[in-house]
Amino acid sequence: MTLRIPARLTAPEPGWVISADVIVVGSGIAGLTAALRLRQRVDRVLLVTKTVLSEGSTQWAQGGIAAALDPADSAEEHLGDTLVAGAGVCDEDAVRVLVSEGPARVRELVTLGTQFDRGPDGEISLTREGGHGRDRIAHAGGDATGKEISRALIASLGAALVAVKEDPGIEVLEHALVVDLLQDKDSRVCGVTLHVIGEGQMDGVGAARARAVVLATGGIGQVYSATTNPSVATGDGVAAALRAGAVIADLEFVQFHPTVLWLGEGASGQQPLLSEAMRGEGAFLVDGDGVRFMGGVHDLADLAPRDIVAKAIVARMAQTDADHVYLDARHLGKEFLEQRFPSIVARCRELGFDPVTDLLPVAPAQHYASGGVRTDVLGRSSLAGLYACGEVSCTGVHGANRLASNSLLEGLVFAYRIAEDITSRLSAGDLRSTDPWVRREDTTLVAAQERTGIQRAMTVGTGAVRCADSLAQAAKNLQFIADSRSGSTADPDSWETSNLLHVAQLLTAVASLREETRGGHVRSDFTEHDDDHWLGHTYAVREADGLITTSFHPTAPRDVS
Ligand SMILES: Cc1cc2nc3c(=O)[nH]c(=O)nc-3n(C[C@H](O)[C@H](O)[C@H](O)COP(=O)(O)OP(=O)(O)OC[C@H]3O[C@@H](n4cnc5c(N)ncnc54)[C@H](O)[C@@H]3O)c2cc1C
Repeated sequence: MTLRIPARLTAPEPGWVISADVIVVGSGIAGLTAALRLRQRVDRVLLVTKTVLSEGSTQWAQGGIAAALDPADSAEEHLGDTLVAGAGVCDEDAVRVLVSEGPARVRELVTLGTQFDRGPDGEISLTREGGHGRDRIAHAGGDATGKEISRALIASLGAALVAVKEDPGIEVLEHALVVDLLQDKDSRVCGVTLHVIGEGQMDGVGAARARAVVLATGGIGQVYSATTNPSVATGDGVAAALRAGAVIADLEFVQFHPTVLWLGEGASGQQPLLSEAMRGEGAFLVDGDGVRFMGGVHDLADLAPRDIVAKAIVARMAQTDADHVYLDARHLGKEFLEQRFPSIVARCRELGFDPVTDLLPVAPAQHYASGGVRTDVLGRSSLAGLYACGEVSCTGVHGANRLASNSLLEGLVFAYRIAEDITSRLSAGDLRSTDPWVRREDTTLVAAQERTGIQRAMTVGTGAVRCADSLAQAAKNLQFIADSRSGSTADPDSWETSNLLHVAQLLTAVASLREETRGGHVRSDFTEHDDDHWLGHTYAVREADGLITTSFHPTAPRDVS
């Protein structure tokens, strides 16, 4: 099916204009790290975020952040585990950057005030998660790592803000939704259009102009009916970059977390995650008859990589005609569970399940997008002036499947690199200030009430397990929504829903293309890896006429055994 996507979302013409040297979009670990580091070297940084600074997936991260901090561990071992999880299609150079620069970046988080959990010897305590061959996950507040990192980063940002009160070099705009990217005549990105719920002049749609834009808008989880991602994860960054003509890579590799608390058939939106660290500490999966089933599936049993566990759960649910299985953590005991997993235990109890005495019903739900805006190891996208970091990006570190706790690290490491690259390019006069070119192409807008239909089409057709028929049906349903001219006003709900549609259409298109099973892309009609044809990356680009073209980019085979 031919896929066309308009160049912009329908929005009023900007009523005001502001400018900065660099605009950072998003305030998770990636955006905050980029803004803080940039602020040390660049005069005017503008940080815009859709709701409040602390909102995003970062503050929901439970398990921790992976880094070879233990003297007995090494970057090389971390590299090996990451390549195995990525199922042959990681970009090895990017992974080397991640694992070798990661420990220093995590130590800087400590300097910024992040309180990681420590053992009796005063050292940061490290735990293990699925796919890791060693204990290398630093955690905080037991199971509240992201919240603590986010708190420390925001506090530092606050300190930076106080420090520059007289000459505010860093401006924070909350309740500011970026709608589209501004580009000059040569397609160089030179700013964003954004909608601000603000006061005075800076209210409604405006334009922010800069020499470089850093997208750090997080994930796409709300494309599906059930996800662990918060409500802001509507794929805005991927959609805006796609419309602007950036290369989007590997979008078909979607990680479905195996152990998301199952709250009944009708549950939708953000669902509670039961961290992999629970299995790391000894919890295990059983089916409705109390039978453990991971032993025969993989050497690491319940700690196998996530795609394998999710696939095994889907298969067990099909065999037993059930819509969930169970996680058994009862043997870990009350004292240990409450001390190690305080947030999870509290949330389960709120919802009527006690991990100390009850089996916990679980089923896979969307968790992480391994693909996104394609970047090199400096964080540069295919469009001049546009950078991307964190979950919105595809640096290539995750390949077909993200290794647990590597994503906070990726945001941290590559946001820092972007700040370094922008700084040196600004001093070299390499990032010019250019004027946006007013484009007259067609625009689009989908009504907010279409959101449920998009999510249903994706969950049924492009979900944890896909096949040619289900993907074709999803593409048809999504095109029907795109073609329906249901009247809509230009507002944040409609912009988000339009972004969900564009991401959903692209994801379905590339998932149809890849006729094999690999990592987070599981096909029931092509159940094996096909290294002869599919060892590599899918790229998708919007051409000037709106047509989406796709291409395949092989990677060199390597031994990751
Ligand atoms: C429940 C849960 C548990 C997890 N546990 C772990 C873990 O233990 N370890 C690990 O490594 N990873 C974990 N992850 C994944 C990890 O948290 C995310 O991948 C990571 O935090 C993403 O960071 P980010 O900075 O890219 O995006 P986010 O933290 O999601 O931030 C995105 C930001 O962009 C803003 N934004 C979005 N769209 C717009 C727009 N149009 N305009 C302006 N602003 C916008 C959002 O408001 C938000 O501030 C977990 C994720 C979830 C959901």
